[in-house]
Amino acid sequence: MSAATRSARTRRAPAPDRLCVEAVAFAREAVEAAAAPGRVGEHLEAVADGDRVVTHFFECLESAYRGWRWAATLTRASRAKTVTLDETVLLPGPSALLAPEWVPWNERLRPGDLGPGDLLPTDAEDLRLEPGYAGDENLPPKAPLGDDAELSDASGVAVPGVREVAEAEDADLEPGSPREVASPPERGTIAAVAAEMGMARPRVLSRYGLHTAADRWEDEYGSRTPMAQSAPASCVSCGFLVPLVGSLRQAFGVCANEYSPADGHVVSLSYGCGGHSEAAVMPKPPQPPPPVIDETKADELS
Ligand code: SF4
Repeated sequence: MSAATRSARTRRAPAPDRLCVEAVAFAREAVEAAAAPGRVGEHLEAVADGDRVVTHFFECLESAYRGWRWAATLTRASRAKTVTLDETVLLPGPSALLAPEWVPWNERLRPGDLGPGDLLPTDAEDLRLEPGYAGDENLPPKAPLGDDAELSDASGVAVPGVREVAEAEDADLEPGSPREVASPPERGTIAAVAAEMGMARPRVLSRYGLHTAADRWEDEYGSRTPMAQSAPASCVSCGFLVPLVGSLRQAFGVCANEYSPADGHVVSLSYGCGGHSEAAVMPKPPQPPPPVIDETKADELS
């Protein structure tokens, strides 16, 4: 341990300067000049900040600043008898109501925050997503259909490779052009093959993403909601249910009843509402009674 560190550890807090500590009235006068009239309360304490530097704390009576304290820092020059004002400031006390620590935007974001024109980036390590296809994009040089492969047309005439064509076209493009920003996958790469097979998405929903989505939908339109509890029947037998594809179809579908509160939403098969297609049958219009007086024949007169 160095001598400087040892001396810093053994350094004691400065002793409060007597003249600065006794100048409570002077400190009160200073904070009352800074605060609104009648907003400065009891003197709370005097704290030594350094040699001949003392801060006086006063209670803040402002209802919007409960727990805050007015502070006036006083000081005095060496061998001088006059105490002078350094600064006045309103500071939070131990019981002050403070804003929480800074929270990163991706933790503050809530469902529904995304508006028109907003872009929401997804992390490369986002647990909700996993690769849609896997493979090494860096094919060896001169490999069949590789980046540097020279292709031939039907007559056997060599045609330039895809990369050469792309580079020749790119020479005419301005920086920032759509081609430069997003170009299709190069021919012969795993991405190009996946696109041809209809697997064009580089990433798909992972099992974790699937489960979190199912949990959300179950909370909102599941069997435990008050609407489902009082429904005459569940969605699984409703004609307005549009089935999903994939593994989610075993538990969810989309409601297509415009009068249902779940119209257009993914609903659990155990959800239900009063708009169930078979819940109530429309009553038939009543049949008119047969006519009492037959007007189709002439009445015989006696
Ligand atoms: S109308 Fe009601 S019961 Fe039918 S699918 Fe929609 S939410 Fe389910």
